Amino acid sequence: MSLAPLPLSTQVTVLRGLGPARAAALQEAGIGTLRDLLWSLPFRYVDRGSLQHLGSLERRGFEGPDEGFGLRPSPSWGAGGGRRATEGSGRSPSDGMEGGIVTVLGTLQDLRQSTTRVQRMALTEALLVDGTGTLRLIWFNQPYLGRSLKVGDRLLAFGPVVLGRHGLEMRSPQFELLGRGEETPWVRRFLPLYRKLGPLPGRARQRLAAEALARAHPPEEWLPLDLSRDLPDTLAALRLLHEPPDDSDPRALEEGTTPAHQRLAAEELFAFALGVALRRAGRLRRKGLVVPTSPDLRERLKAYLPFPLTGAQRRAFKEIVEDLTSGRVMNRLLQGDVGSGKTLVAFLSLAMVAETGGQGALLVPTEVLARQHAASFQRLLGPESGTMQLLLGGMKAAEKREALARIASGEARYVVGTHALFQESVAFHQLQLVVVDEQHRFGVKQREALKEKGGDPHWLVMSATPIPRSLALSIFGDLDQSVLDELPPGRQPIATKLLHPAQAEVAWGLVARELAAGRQAFVVSPAIDPSDGGSISGSQGRPGDARSAAFDGGKVQLRDIQAMEKLLRARFPDTELAVVHGRLKADELATRMGRFVRGEAGILLATTVVEVGVDVPNATVMVVDHAERFGLSQLHQLRGRVGRGAHASQFVMLSASEAQRLAVLVATQDGFRIAQKDLELRGPGEFFGVRQAGLPQFQAADLVRDRALLLRCREAADRALQLGLSERQLDWLRREQTRLRLADVS
Ligand code: ADP
Ligand code: MG
Repeated sequence: MSLAPLPLSTQVTVLRGLGPARAAALQEAGIGTLRDLLWSLPFRYVDRGSLQHLGSLERRGFEGPDEGFGLRPSPSWGAGGGRRATEGSGRSPSDGMEGGIVTVLGTLQDLRQSTTRVQRMALTEALLVDGTGTLRLIWFNQPYLGRSLKVGDRLLAFGPVVLGRHGLEMRSPQFELLGRGEETPWVRRFLPLYRKLGPLPGRARQRLAAEALARAHPPEEWLPLDLSRDLPDTLAALRLLHEPPDDSDPRALEEGTTPAHQRLAAEELFAFALGVALRRAGRLRRKGLVVPTSPDLRERLKAYLPFPLTGAQRRAFKEIVEDLTSGRVMNRLLQGDVGSGKTLVAFLSLAMVAETGGQGALLVPTEVLARQHAASFQRLLGPESGTMQLLLGGMKAAEKREALARIASGEARYVVGTHALFQESVAFHQLQLVVVDEQHRFGVKQREALKEKGGDPHWLVMSATPIPRSLALSIFGDLDQSVLDELPPGRQPIATKLLHPAQAEVAWGLVARELAAGRQAFVVSPAIDPSDGGSISGSQGRPGDARSAAFDGGKVQLRDIQAMEKLLRARFPDTELAVVHGRLKADELATRMGRFVRGEAGILLATTVVEVGVDVPNATVMVVDHAERFGLSQLHQLRGRVGRGAHASQFVMLSASEAQRLAVLVATQDGFRIAQKDLELRGPGEFFGVRQAGLPQFQAADLVRDRALLLRCREAADRALQLGLSERQLDWLRREQTRLRLADVS
């Protein structure tokens, strides 16, 4: 066998022990080269030092319910629901999340499948033995386990241990199959765990990684010295993470903060930062259309204002005007908490170009919102409202033709619309500014599409979810930023409550009181995925994710929107109810929303269709059912739907779990703080809720955890750009950008 070291760009198929089916499974997961293979890190490590003998569990278990690993049925086991649940807030043992998880290793001795009598749930029970004692393992609603597990399997299991009717039991454990029949020798202290990929078990991935490490050639160094100085080199780092030495710090390994993690993260973040810096440099070289200003224009804009701008609005608008008159292309992010008045800033910016002979477009994510913005633009424009044109995907053919003609001729100077705006049939006369409301749903691609039509318009993105400033700077480093950090005067705080579903009558009492006073109410039900089968687990972690599956304890019965509708009709028989959800046709949705907006319906029962932007000042109370199903920022957005008028407003969350997480909303109304917390709990991927938003797909780096490192990478990237990049560096950067799925370098 040849022992020549292999470059990391070698295809994984050179590895022994990799048949075609397994190679295909790797390929499918995007793992083509040794580099890809080695950068797919273990998702967790088992510290053999923390393994518990089953016998010791039994002894400790009976010493008393407060001992060690949470024998109390802890309500917070349903908490978290994200991959970072055990980090951040879950770290302290006193809050019961991490404290309850036990790791055991044993052989399956007995396995049975049954159905629970009351709730008709599939129940899988197994008996684990390890020579010192036994432990019952129990899974709910996972009948396939009865087929995939066999007596004689060696299992590494993690989960909460509770005292059940038949003694100690581990509920819904996450587990790793260590082998069948054979004794697996395991002499190192840390056992890395890999996710199963199709037909490729985690153990096989470990063996492949070991082989790759043994045969790989050290790659070239791309990091500048000031980043790499205190870190192991790439190959050493990979070795430290796939085969952690016994003296590794278990906590740093688990949290991803070892120097080896930092090395890999630095490589990804440096490539990312360099790409951002290049894009920004490219944009600053592009010529932008200069919007002419004059004192006369200023007077005309002022005349449109229904109320004086807040200080923050004035600052933001000034920054925008500077951009529009600078001769460079604007690319700006306007951030502000819900209700901070972003729309008015957007309107003024659009008026700048509309009043000087150009066209401006406002893009929004939904038709409901488009209609609403169009209506408020019409109010602001008054006698000039004829210059505004609405464009929706669902328009009738004739209506649409007319709209398109008005846009093409330039007669429509303000265009408000949804994605329909991006279709090829839309031609603008003189598109100079695009404002995008709720950035996360409009990706880079659409911008390119528009760019092709209107040349290179100025671009203003409004974020509905505020992002902590330092993070936004790092992620959207090629955007300039304006922040509305001030609410318009006279806003009343929204009284926020968290109630257990058993106290729901308190919430309905509040609703009844508001209705009696002539106000209106929102009731929000979580959108239901049919695969939930009417019941949900306490957490929504991805399958196979140890940290969430382990919390999969008791199932909660989910009340869907139909059940809620029935409840509301019974509780409020004299109130008209409008029910809206994502599966309604656009015109039906608009009709029902219209009834609520006009005050004809007293209660709007909705899924998160109402999340963004709906403005009904007479609505003063919102009740969110199953609040645990929502992200914190999402709840904060929902809350922003009330408290828009002169009346005091209330926001009530109903939930049987995750009290600790939801309490953040009770404690603060500051959207930036809530977003920060949300990010910490869910991680950036889920927080931003998207892959298509152009967020990089890091394997080692974490935008939240590695914030400080990212800042250093930005500085290093700026320095590197000043020095100029060599062709080889550019090649490397292009490869990295493709791998991280970043937008083009050019
Ligand atoms: P968001 O930033 O969430 O999009 P909106 O633009 O919808 O906020 O504004 C929220 C409410 O505040 C609207 O009813 C709007 O008319 C009002 N508003 C905006 N700016 C001001 C201001 N300067 N003074 C008073 N009210 C304002
Ligand atoms: Mg808005």
